[in-house]
Amino acid sequence: MPADPVAIARDLIRCRSVTPEDGGALAYLDDVLAHAGFVVHRETFTEPGTAPIENLYARIGTAAPNLMFAGHTDVVPPGDEGAWRHPPFAGDVAGGKVYGRGAVDMKGGIACSVAAVLEYLAHVGGKPKGSISFLITGDEEAISVNGTVKLLQWVAARGETFDHCVLGEPSNVETLGDCIKVGRRGSLSGTLYVDGVQGHVAYPHRAANPVPDIAGLVVALSQEPLDHGSAQFQASNLEFTSIDVGNTASNVIPAQARAKFNIRFNDLHTQDSLRTLVEQRMTKAAGNRVRARIVWEYCNANVFVTKPGAFTDLAVAAIEEVAGRKPELSTSGGTSDARFISSYCPVIEFGLVGQTMHQVDERTPVSDLEQLTKIYRGILDRYFA
Ligand SMILES: [Zn+2]
Repeated sequence: MPADPVAIARDLIRCRSVTPEDGGALAYLDDVLAHAGFVVHRETFTEPGTAPIENLYARIGTAAPNLMFAGHTDVVPPGDEGAWRHPPFAGDVAGGKVYGRGAVDMKGGIACSVAAVLEYLAHVGGKPKGSISFLITGDEEAISVNGTVKLLQWVAARGETFDHCVLGEPSNVETLGDCIKVGRRGSLSGTLYVDGVQGHVAYPHRAANPVPDIAGLVVALSQEPLDHGSAQFQASNLEFTSIDVGNTASNVIPAQARAKFNIRFNDLHTQDSLRTLVEQRMTKAAGNRVRARIVWEYCNANVFVTKPGAFTDLAVAAIEEVAGRKPELSTSGGTSDARFISSYCPVIEFGLVGQTMHQVDERTPVSDLEQLTKIYRGILDRYFA
């Protein structure tokens, strides 16, 4: 099979893998990788109350180091398919661009990594010096419980280890080569409750109104910064997203008020240290009179960062050579599966340009697919040199 990233991307786009459906995407990759000499495993993971999800782990070589390419074949729904100029699952090429759901997030990225690896293997006579592996899930776009987390555990239970990972999420902002993600902030959510005493608005002395009290706490917790940023991260941020009383009457003082918030936090905090800090501030602002408490949500989005070093250097060099620009090492944006991978090995995220991801007419230039394949090939050459 020729190592053509455009052909692979189009084939993958034609698999209707709207999360949690697979649409034949993993069977396709299984076939391509098995032909190239990979040992391919397809594992289905389940959890009560969730859809069973198929995942793929493929490896060629048994020696260290093991360089992993990671990604997901599931995509977000296309929305109104009639609004697309090119059908979302056709894989059309028009005006030098490949159209379709997943073109940039992230079937295009997977296609480039597969093409680069096939080319590299052809160049070295079919066997890498160490090992190359693919860790591909069908569960990233929704709840991410039967995907990368469990697949990493499954591989580790076999006694296999990873040395470095390239996750092909669309990391670039404007142009191919402008950004490598080397970390992500963590995410933690909670609900602030203030208990009052219900009563008639005409007799407030017999009630305790939680509305002004929660308003005061919301202001207090929003105003004081959590930190001022770290060497590699912007400042952490606590953002209230709603305040609810659920009161339909205009003559009743409600018994309780609640406010939801989310914190995006950097490497100066852990979930535990943040909970302590926010609760201390709440207690201080509440004083002795206001009855306030926070209920925290379970969250698996911890902060991580890959420190600059030999691995980031070789990725930067490969990008500079092909794209002609030095990428920024960024830690901005939301969470990704890199947060799970980072517990096993250093991980960087580098893929296509993210501009049209999750949009109607998601698309990527053919030239970006070709360039990204060259960049991955450059990473492979340097890594195993
Ligand atoms: Zn993605």
